[in-house]
Amino acid sequence: MSANPPFIDTTAATVAVRVLCAFAAKTGDLDLRFTPSPSAQDGIAGHTTVTARRAAGYQREVPLSARFGELLVQGRADGFDPTTPRLEEIKTHRGDVTVIPENHRELHWAQARVYGWMLCEQLSLERIELALVYFNIDNGQETVLPVWHSAIELKAFFESLCERYVGWARAEVAHHAARDAALQALVFPFEGFRPGQRELAAAVYRSHRAGRHLLAQAPTGIGKTMATLFATLRAAPAQGTHKVFYLTAKTPGRQLALHALQRMKVQPLRVLELVARDKACEHPDKACHGESCPLARGFYDRLPQAREAAAEAGWLDKAALREIALRHEVCPYYLGQDLLRWSDVVVGDFNHFFDLSAHAWSLTVSDDLRVGLLVDEAHNLIERARLMYSAELHPRAFHAVRKTAPAALKKAMDRLHRQWSALARQHTQDHTVLPDLPGAFIEALQRHNVALSNHLVHTPEGAAGLQDWMFEVQRFLRVAEVFGEHSLVDLTHPQRVAGRVRHPVITLRNLDPGPLLQPRWQAAHSATLFSATLSPMGYVNDLLGLPADTARLDVPSPFDAAQLQVRVTPHLSTRYADRAASLDRLVDVMATQYGERPGNYLAFFSSFEYLQQALQRLQATHPALPVWAQSRGMGEPEREAFVARFTEQSRGIGFAVLGGAFGEGIDLPGQRLIGAFIATLGLPQVNPVTEQLRARLQARFGQGYDYTYLFPGLQKVVQAAGRVIRGPQDEGVVVLMDERFARPEVRRLLPAWWRL
Ligand code: SF4
Repeated sequence: MSANPPFIDTTAATVAVRVLCAFAAKTGDLDLRFTPSPSAQDGIAGHTTVTARRAAGYQREVPLSARFGELLVQGRADGFDPTTPRLEEIKTHRGDVTVIPENHRELHWAQARVYGWMLCEQLSLERIELALVYFNIDNGQETVLPVWHSAIELKAFFESLCERYVGWARAEVAHHAARDAALQALVFPFEGFRPGQRELAAAVYRSHRAGRHLLAQAPTGIGKTMATLFATLRAAPAQGTHKVFYLTAKTPGRQLALHALQRMKVQPLRVLELVARDKACEHPDKACHGESCPLARGFYDRLPQAREAAAEAGWLDKAALREIALRHEVCPYYLGQDLLRWSDVVVGDFNHFFDLSAHAWSLTVSDDLRVGLLVDEAHNLIERARLMYSAELHPRAFHAVRKTAPAALKKAMDRLHRQWSALARQHTQDHTVLPDLPGAFIEALQRHNVALSNHLVHTPEGAAGLQDWMFEVQRFLRVAEVFGEHSLVDLTHPQRVAGRVRHPVITLRNLDPGPLLQPRWQAAHSATLFSATLSPMGYVNDLLGLPADTARLDVPSPFDAAQLQVRVTPHLSTRYADRAASLDRLVDVMATQYGERPGNYLAFFSSFEYLQQALQRLQATHPALPVWAQSRGMGEPEREAFVARFTEQSRGIGFAVLGGAFGEGIDLPGQRLIGAFIATLGLPQVNPVTEQLRARLQARFGQGYDYTYLFPGLQKVVQAAGRVIRGPQDEGVVVLMDERFARPEVRRLLPAWWRL
């Protein structure tokens, strides 16, 4: 829980210098070419280096504040030399200092001037020297830009910023008071709770009130979205909660949350839907800077009006946000990023809070926000987090940009090419796990990144391909920065040509996301992670790095065991080595069940390859049985068509892969689905990478096999089987097609309400 005062409280408007300047002193174009700025750790290290070089008596991190009417502005100046007197604002950077754009520099000056005024007022100074210190993290060089200012000038500047902000701040204070009053009076928007729903809501309410985290397993159909949102919003005012983030693994989950929020009709409440940049972008062929994209040009000049309109609208789902953005000619995606700060409930993807560069997360930390996190379908977070903290660099992408790269990039690219070749020569196996990060390669990549970003600044035209490559490089470098015990780096040779050195694919793989997720949980006042499949909770708790005191709730299923007939097929092995021999028996089980009770079934397999084998055998042996199948890389329309085949009148078997698009999140009540066949235990494939994972998890948790294979596999099985019973009227069958399902260690991982 936060110990510091919130950045805006409900009695007086308090604002950080950084926020005030970003609000009132940012003008001109949006420009994304300046991302080679160092990481937070580099920034701290840079500040420490610079301030350590200063003479005795130099003051660091000086806390300062000043008032403007009811507005209290506060912050910490980087450094102050009282003998001159000189105030320093330190910014770390990489590459050429002259390419820092004018509007970024103006923002840095604004911060220096505000601190300058605060010091003049506090120490009764008539004049002060302000210096912007740009510190190059790569070569340790400082570029110092000093200017003397009178206290009168600085006061006038400070007041001009405050005048621009104070009206907004007053409105914010009033908005928060009205919002909290509305939330305190919030009533559940249905006549009663569904079975289990009240229990879930009460647990969420209690954990938010206690500032604790909660793992909640609750069956499908009890209204988890409404229960968790209602309880958190109801508990929020008493806790001084600034914001609630509702995070989902997939788009349909976002829609459910938006419907629940609409249904609650809280007024006023600012609700913001966040989507990925490629989904919100209006000009996918352009780069994100004013010389390329019209919605980036003058973005900050038009942002204040767009922000006002958005705050007034309150309801900002994707369509509403787009409409406001286009009306004010600003980019919808970056308008959404700005509105994060000013919204009450944000509905987005896991990425928006957990990714390494997640804006919602950095805002929570920088503004010291008290936030409630609601993590929907949380069983997906383990795998999603692994992906967020992993990155791959493919030589094909590098060779493609190198072919057409301009002369200015040649030197850095050649160096990178040499380092890549050196790795290829040192490691000739098809797959090699390196003991540590390849330092020389990473250094060459960093230099290439600096050269690339400097080049893009000077040559805005024709930058789209290079910009994509730069983003890839920067992401890889970000993942490399957090590389540690929880990850591994490996090299894979995509293809070999005799006599030629082939550059390997370099992959940084996160295996255990817990250590990287821990700071996220620490930053949240309370987090509720919920899903129908969170068992065993100790496994989920460990791999997500949740605190040991995280509360646990397992809401019993409201369904009757008589609704679901669960059968294990004896004497049938779907182990890889046994598949060919057991295929006939497997399709026979399916055809027999279908013959006994014709209707709609889903059949799940562990891979597309296995799915195809079973499908072909069934078609060959039972040609009259209607079938349809999932295929690799299905787009949205194909997925919809697959689901649309399941109607109240139709009959047949839909073939799908476990853990894929149809293994969870689809709702086929009544006769639309009467049964599921599940072949295999969903265990991940045994290969060098999963074996590395097993070894690491064994060393860390003492349960390598269970944490790598058995538990994730069974979660997929239970999720898939969960498609069959969707309501109190449903009846159906689940056929578990592998003899291992009868083993006690497997049976205990199946839902308690199933009668086997
Ligand atoms: S519209 Fe697209 S290209 Fe333009 S700034 Fe937004 S995201 Fe970038």
